[in-house]
Amino acid sequence: MPDFIPVLEKDDIQRIVSTLAESISTDYKDRELVLIGVLKGAFIFLADLVRQLTIPVSVDFIRAASYGSGTSSSGSIRLTKAIETDIAGKDVLVVEDIVDTGLTLSHLIDYLKTFSPRSVEVCTLIDKYERRKSEVKAKYAGYQTGHGFLVGYGLDFDEAYRELPGIYHLKFQPKEGVL
Ligand code: 5GP
Repeated sequence: MPDFIPVLEKDDIQRIVSTLAESISTDYKDRELVLIGVLKGAFIFLADLVRQLTIPVSVDFIRAASYGSGTSSSGSIRLTKAIETDIAGKDVLVVEDIVDTGLTLSHLIDYLKTFSPRSVEVCTLIDKYERRKSEVKAKYAGYQTGHGFLVGYGLDFDEAYRELPGIYHLKFQPKEGVL
């Protein structure tokens, strides 16, 4: 069983979500905003964020699978769910749970731009900006952190722990006899 080191409690997350929602509501007032959640990890964050906004929005989802497995992105992705909303001429905000190397997001942004939106920006709950391997910048970032694999509040490890209300750093203990 790995150790769970608390990173953000439920109340911390709600404060962060409120602050992000306030900025987004101000910046996109009187615009046609489409939120595009990145499945599966962002589903809880998006559900909370949308309910704190004070402006009308449309919601869609996208899903990208990273080739390979493990706890880091391979950099090579394939789209397993396309968008279904017409985003031409509209403002798009990609809603991510976590941006790590940024490689997934940079592919997704390139894909979204082919539909000629008015703008494409990123809102992420967690930004591991020090690990970036692409030019991607999140206009809205709730919490910045360095290393460590995080779970909870939608974030999984092998499909487990998404249901946890807080966010934890998952620390694996070394196997007995292995240094
Ligand atoms: P990137 O392409 O930016 O390196 O990785 C983006 C995706 O990798 C995220 O959307 C998320 O699915 C996954 N990921 C990156 N870091 C973490 C982490 O600390 N915890 C979890 N659960 N997923 C992560």
